[in-house]
Amino acid sequence: MRSPKKTTHCLQFFAIFIMCLLPSQARLETTYDLVIRDGRVIDPASDFDGIRSLGISRGTIQTIDEGPLQGRVVIDARGKIVTAGFIDLHSHAQTQLGQKYQVLDGVTTSLELEAGAYPVAAVGNQIADRPLINFGASASYAAMRSKVLTNSDNPYLFFDGRPFSFEDPGFTTPLDAQQIERVMRHVHLGLDQGGLGIGLLLDYMSDAVTTAELEALFTVAAERKAPLFIHIRRGMAGDPRGLMEVIDLAKKTGAPIHICHLSASAMGGIEEFLRLFHTAIEDGVDISAESYPYNAGSTSIGAAVFDRDWQQIFGITYADVQLAESGKYFDRQRWDKLRVENPAATIIHHYGNEDWTQLAVKAPGMMIGSDAMPVFSESVKSHPRGMGTFSRVLTEYVRKNKLLSLPEALAKMSYLPAARLALIAPQFKNKGRIQTGADADIVIFDANIIADQATYTAPYQGPKGISWVLVNGKIVVQDGAVVEAVYPGRIIIGAGSHPSY
Ligand SMILES: [Zn+2]
Repeated sequence: MRSPKKTTHCLQFFAIFIMCLLPSQARLETTYDLVIRDGRVIDPASDFDGIRSLGISRGTIQTIDEGPLQGRVVIDARGKIVTAGFIDLHSHAQTQLGQKYQVLDGVTTSLELEAGAYPVAAVGNQIADRPLINFGASASYAAMRSKVLTNSDNPYLFFDGRPFSFEDPGFTTPLDAQQIERVMRHVHLGLDQGGLGIGLLLDYMSDAVTTAELEALFTVAAERKAPLFIHIRRGMAGDPRGLMEVIDLAKKTGAPIHICHLSASAMGGIEEFLRLFHTAIEDGVDISAESYPYNAGSTSIGAAVFDRDWQQIFGITYADVQLAESGKYFDRQRWDKLRVENPAATIIHHYGNEDWTQLAVKAPGMMIGSDAMPVFSESVKSHPRGMGTFSRVLTEYVRKNKLLSLPEALAKMSYLPAARLALIAPQFKNKGRIQTGADADIVIFDANIIADQATYTAPYQGPKGISWVLVNGKIVVQDGAVVEAVYPGRIIIGAGSHPSY
């Protein structure tokens, strides 16, 4: 016969055992808008990596839990990675079609920072009231110069679908001291409008901009703590002077700077560029940089660099350049004709190589940014980087050749850009991380099957393996396809935003 005491003990143990199995009372009482169940959660901000469920309500991550959670909608994420949505700080694809392919690639915030816009709100012109993902722009320096020189608004570059021209005075005309002063007033205005820093296409205005003008601009950037997003001046292949110029100015003025597509600007000089970049960080310069994982570049045939000795600069000939729209390679005759007839036509120039790209992508502190080109119609081809940059990093450099660990790669695509942009927009303190209270911008993918599929000849293809993407807590991609009629994206504005805008 069992003693009663022993029975009581057994019951107590049994009760405790059952309590551990059941969700706690608190969990039972809360029904979240959405629950992501049992995924491998990687938070690139804290290096957390473990199986957890997320409870999301009102666009925010409310809880991260080991136990089961109740949700009105439940995503079963078993076997998949759950991490912060990618933040693309270099995207010209501020159109509905551009956003569609970026979100399929896991991007939840896509920003036009290199070219910028002015007025800044013009960045939303082509997205109208239907943003799939978050977006925003820096204040466009070229457009501000143009405003002073022509007194007309030309929001640059890609937002209204009209052909633009690098022949615009904003790119080509030098300024006198008085005009420089007037442009600086517009720089302040652009930041007051909520510009996420200043977009500086320096190479495209190489002949027009003097050191004195740059110093005035960098001084305002320092004063406003507004990062300059710079396409540095390009010299002969691998010449680092364009990078040295902006590092010196940043040292002198204290301006925060970001180097756009560092690998594309560095080419064979990549090791020297990376050395200069890391030395500048050690010297206390507030500098960041991004690269994309492709070996070909893309720009307009009218770009200023093609007025110069471009074949030597890039180490290529006409036969290495494709017209993006058709995929056809050029000869001299076709090249000269098109430059006159349609300077806005997009070209893809194959001047990089895989070793340079890999050195850049794996470099400590290097962020991933797509440099996605503007796209308006799938009948016009474009560089695949607008459709596959982020999945390509996960495919080529994490899954296939293990150049990067998964958490390392994810940090380059979400947390590092968020940390950089928090300087100018405090909202980024809630992005690029999977933490309680963070914005529910989330990507869910299978690290074992992820594969970018966009190619130079067939760019309009989303990747394999990215199943769900959430923007501000709403499902925008489900089973690898864009959900219809859901537009949760928001414009992100800078801290300088003035109440009157
Ligand atoms: Zn550029």
